[in-house]
Order: sequence, then C-alpha cells, then structure tokens
Amino acid sequence: MGALRPMPVPQEVEITPVGTIRVVWRDGHLSTFRARSLRLLCPCAVCVEEWSGEVKVKEEDIPVTLSVRKATRVGNYALSFTWSDNHSTGIYPYDMLRRLCPCPECAGA
Ligand SMILES: [Zn+2]
Ligand SMILES: [Zn+2]
Repeated sequence: MGALRPMPVPQEVEITPVGTIRVVWRDGHLSTFRARSLRLLCPCAVCVEEWSGEVKVKEEDIPVTLSVRKATRVGNYALSFTWSDNHSTGIYPYDMLRRLCPCPECAGA
C-alpha cells in the first residue's frame, strides 16, 4: 500500500484570486486548499512542539481573513508558503499535502 506508492508531485501550484491554493498533481489529481486550513496545520517548530507533537498554533491566533502571499518549492519534496500573517517557516512535504487533500474523493477514502 502506502510505502510502494510513488511520492505525489505537484505539476502546478497556483494561488487563486479567492485565496485558495490550487495544486494539480502529476497524476492529474486536483487539490484545492483553504489558506487558513493549511496555516493551522503548519508543521514548523514554532507551531508544533517538536518532541511532544503538541500543536501550539491556535484557531483564534489565525485571522479568518488569512491569505497566502506566496508558494515556494522546497527542494523536490515540499512546498513552503508565505502567509499574510508573515509566517513562512512551515515546510509542507508533498505527501503531507496530498494526504490533506480536502476533495470529497480523498476525504472519503
Ligand atoms: Zn509554523
Ligand atoms: Zn483529493
């Protein structure tokens, strides 16, 4: 199962005018992420305590109007985002993003 599957790789990453992040994967799958949802899942050391895994970023800390300013590729395995709250230290590996895909197909799987 999982281990044998090739790593998902985004073909296109686009910030849409409505502030969502649109990822077209190499296998043709489409993921549309809400900026705030991804920001709340930021895996960086500021947002998640490294040794306990405790999430330190709280819903109420993140403005409801949060948007994404920039999406940057990190090496060939991840994306990082610059959010409108100036946070940008999170690195989102492709396989994590693909797992987080909120489309009905993935959410139901
Ligand atoms: Zn973070
Ligand atoms: Zn999906």
